Amino acid sequence: MFLDGRTPPGGAALGADLAIIGAGAAGITLARALAGRGLKIALIESGGLEWSEAAADLGAGSLGEQHYGDLAYVRLRQFGGTTGHWGGWCRELDAIDFEPRDFVPLSGWPIAKSDLAPFYPEAQSILQLGPARYDDFAAVAAEAKAEAPIAPGGDMEAVLFEFSPPTRMGEVYRAELEQSDVAVWLNTTVSDIRLSDDLTTVTGLVLSRDGAPPLAMAVRHVVAACGGLSNPQLLLNADSQVAGGIGNAHDQVGRCFAEHPIVETFAAILALGPATGAPFAFRDTSVGNRRYRPAFQPSAAARRAKGRLSTLVTINEPGPAFDPATGGFDRWDEARLGPQATGAAIAALSGAGPLRLHYRSAGFETRPNPDSRVTLTAARDRFGGRRIKLDWRLSDADLDDYLANLEDLGRAFAAAGTAVIRIDPEARARYRADTSWGHHHMGTTRMGDDPRVSVCDGDGRVHGMANLWIAGSSLFTTPGAANPTLTIVALALRLADRLKKAFAP
Ligand SMILES: Cc1cc2nc3c(=O)[nH]c(=O)nc-3n(C[C@H](O)[C@H](O)[C@H](O)COP(=O)(O)OP(=O)(O)OC[C@H]3O[C@@H](n4cnc5c(N)ncnc54)[C@H](O)[C@@H]3O)c2cc1C
Repeated sequence: MFLDGRTPPGGAALGADLAIIGAGAAGITLARALAGRGLKIALIESGGLEWSEAAADLGAGSLGEQHYGDLAYVRLRQFGGTTGHWGGWCRELDAIDFEPRDFVPLSGWPIAKSDLAPFYPEAQSILQLGPARYDDFAAVAAEAKAEAPIAPGGDMEAVLFEFSPPTRMGEVYRAELEQSDVAVWLNTTVSDIRLSDDLTTVTGLVLSRDGAPPLAMAVRHVVAACGGLSNPQLLLNADSQVAGGIGNAHDQVGRCFAEHPIVETFAAILALGPATGAPFAFRDTSVGNRRYRPAFQPSAAARRAKGRLSTLVTINEPGPAFDPATGGFDRWDEARLGPQATGAAIAALSGAGPLRLHYRSAGFETRPNPDSRVTLTAARDRFGGRRIKLDWRLSDADLDDYLANLEDLGRAFAAAGTAVIRIDPEARARYRADTSWGHHHMGTTRMGDDPRVSVCDGDGRVHGMANLWIAGSSLFTTPGAANPTLTIVALALRLADRLKKAFAP
């Protein structure tokens, strides 16, 4: 059932066994997983069925020194959330991403990949993907009758992304939710969370809507599924009973904000010989009705041995043809790439056929940084909520790892005779000014065993709270290099399982 929060049915006092705040990838997954069990579920969404400027304005905020997108537009406030325009790149996190690593401060999720593994297959299906084949590069390449661009078994390995259509959660699952026993509240913004006298249990939510006074909803359990910028905003604004906001006794809410920096022009890749024409060497390819793209990353063993973060290098569609006779790599786009030192390598490798230039793409892993954070400002939205400031911090150590991984990839390509990588010598100088991002908002309510450096436990429950849970990539203890949404959906399914137990008689 869908209802508009501005004109809800009158009468009985409002109450829900489970209130899910936010109808994006996480919220819709949870609602579907728990529907039809006799629970009274309210899925509360700030936006309407379509995008509106008024709803987007509730996400507006300010930035620290690091440039970033306008916060009102870097996610979508509407039914379906940001899946309304996500790109559909999917890949599971690796097992090592969950592990404590002594070269990554604050690393180590309270769960292992094996805890999440049972939920990935259903997450694949929800995002309209096939059975997972992310590390099955050789087999997929063989089915595509394609060549492997690097030899297996080295420090760098070839892996895969799979593309979701991409699934627009608000379109694909709307009819199902309309016919379900879930009450979907549109145009309804949760602006406060009310607690029991001992401050350990959520008793109710304050629902704000345009043109009408706020409503109070009594609740038994609450999941905040508002996205990685709005989850901390909600908790920090909920300070009517707890100074500093809920779950923030150790000043952790909003800290360790992570993104995937994307710096396409830091490296140009010259594809050599037959690899240029091969269907799969660098490009998207379809196997059956599934679409994949190769990616290159340091193996888990190499990451451990070298104390390195991960990088998922994907390579864009080929750019202009490149003729070494008329334009050396050093003369191509010299202003951007600077003097070229690999002319001899190109000459040695380029005998086999046509050459093409590509840029590399995708993002790299970053270390958790408590100073990279979301805080509240004095500016208020029309419901009285304080707006956020995003102070994203980029670290030189993370860039070092990324560039070192690119060098390793260059060596692997050269050894296979498939490509030469040119790394911009000015990359370091251009880092902060030229970095783009994946729109992946992670880490602001991290999971962890220690409440002094985390906000939620391994189930996603806010430390010290009996019935307040978080869903989404704000839970990520460390970000990994893979795009987050598949893991967001898997984590939401795991939380649904946990909540089924909480509601069991
Ligand atoms: C341009 C773009 C491309 C992307 N491409 C990819 C990709 O290729 N692969 C990938 O994995 N990820 C991608 N992403 C990221 C992906 O969209 C997000 O990871 C995913 O949507 C997050 O799901 P979520 O449910 O946590 O949050 P969202 O989908 O953002 O949903 C949160 C919902 O909460 C609502 N809300 C917020 N505050 C409140 C409140 N106080 N009360 C009520 N409701 C509230 C919002 O209106 C929103 O509907 C992309 C994002 C963008 C912007």
